[in-house]
Amino acid sequence: MKSKVKSSPVSRNGFPEPKKVGCFKCQAEILVKFVIPRLDFSKKNDFYHWTNKEKYKGLYVCDKCILNLYKNEKLYYLSLVENPKKRQIIRTYIYDGTIS
Ligand SMILES: [Zn+2]
Repeated sequence: MKSKVKSSPVSRNGFPEPKKVGCFKCQAEILVKFVIPRLDFSKKNDFYHWTNKEKYKGLYVCDKCILNLYKNEKLYYLSLVENPKKRQIIRTYIYDGTIS
């Protein structure tokens, strides 16, 4: 009996590879991972996800720039991220090191 090697049209684990994007503030490269349990790309660096503002649709922001906004430009940050639940998530990400 011959064993067949299966070929797959998708990536190694069967899910999309991380995508490379650029931070809209400092142009740093960001790797957006595919989150398997959610079957979607990570929203951590998706600026529109946090702000819900049309003008930020499709823009990504790096961890450093989120931290900088949060720590050094608090009022501006609060005007950008108005949703209390999203503020809570960002706070958690910062304190647990997800955003670092
Ligand atoms: Zn940045």
